Amino acid sequence: MKLCRFDDNRIGVVRDGYIQDVTSLAESVMAARPGPGDPLVAAWPDIQRLAKNLEPSAPKPVAEVRLLSPVARPGKIVAAPVNYRAHIEEMQKSNISPGHDIPDIDRAGLFLKATSSLVGAGEGIALRFPDRRTDFEIELVAVIGKTATEVSREESLDHVAGFCLGLDITMRGTEDRSFRKSIDSYTVIGPWLTSTEEVTDPNKLTITLKQNGIVRQNGHTADLIYNVQRVIEFASSFYTLYPGDVIFTGTPEGVGPLQPGDRLVASCDALGAMAVDVRAYR
Ligand code: MN
Repeated sequence: MKLCRFDDNRIGVVRDGYIQDVTSLAESVMAARPGPGDPLVAAWPDIQRLAKNLEPSAPKPVAEVRLLSPVARPGKIVAAPVNYRAHIEEMQKSNISPGHDIPDIDRAGLFLKATSSLVGAGEGIALRFPDRRTDFEIELVAVIGKTATEVSREESLDHVAGFCLGLDITMRGTEDRSFRKSIDSYTVIGPWLTSTEEVTDPNKLTITLKQNGIVRQNGHTADLIYNVQRVIEFASSFYTLYPGDVIFTGTPEGVGPLQPGDRLVASCDALGAMAVDVRAYR
């Protein structure tokens, strides 16, 4: 099942291009489930069970809504800085990350992005520093569903609510990574959260990013250095992960600069497609 948030904080289930509004159902379940983490994601198993029996009424076409981030309030956004070999090579060859050597993920570890940087596809990206090079990075994103501390890679997917696409927008420069990647709107996830049962194998997905109609990134998660399970194992060995925590797994090669007026389209067969418009902040 696919969960979305849209318009004025409505909650929906997506089927065949249409959204069924399940806000009142979701809110009643969320109220009964206080606890750590994002209440909507924590309630997601119950929402799925109840929404299955719901008679469709007045579904809205996806194209007619403004998609918000499927997770409203993650406790944290964890990200893998370098997790595809071809991306490490492109960074080492180029001059776009001055002052940083590019170590492997086992030496680099993970980093955190500010939760205030998170938006959905319909909100777009506002380029805050037009004079500074700012790149797109498409990534596979896992959303945690159950509290997880020191989970093994074998158990890790039991703690995942689902997957979505992510854009880790990155201003280049010498400052600390999380500082440059935490600007408002520089973390996009969507178009919706696809439940784990609908994703046969998260390590066999093709993720594609087009910029103004031109394919810039076309990566395969089989090329991840740490696969999805290992990234979650690694993250949970440092942090307790709570429902709604967002895990960016790293970007494949092909990153490039953004300009105001660009339209990005991120897509993956299993996860859907999202169009994200880029504008100037001022
Ligand atoms: Mn990234």
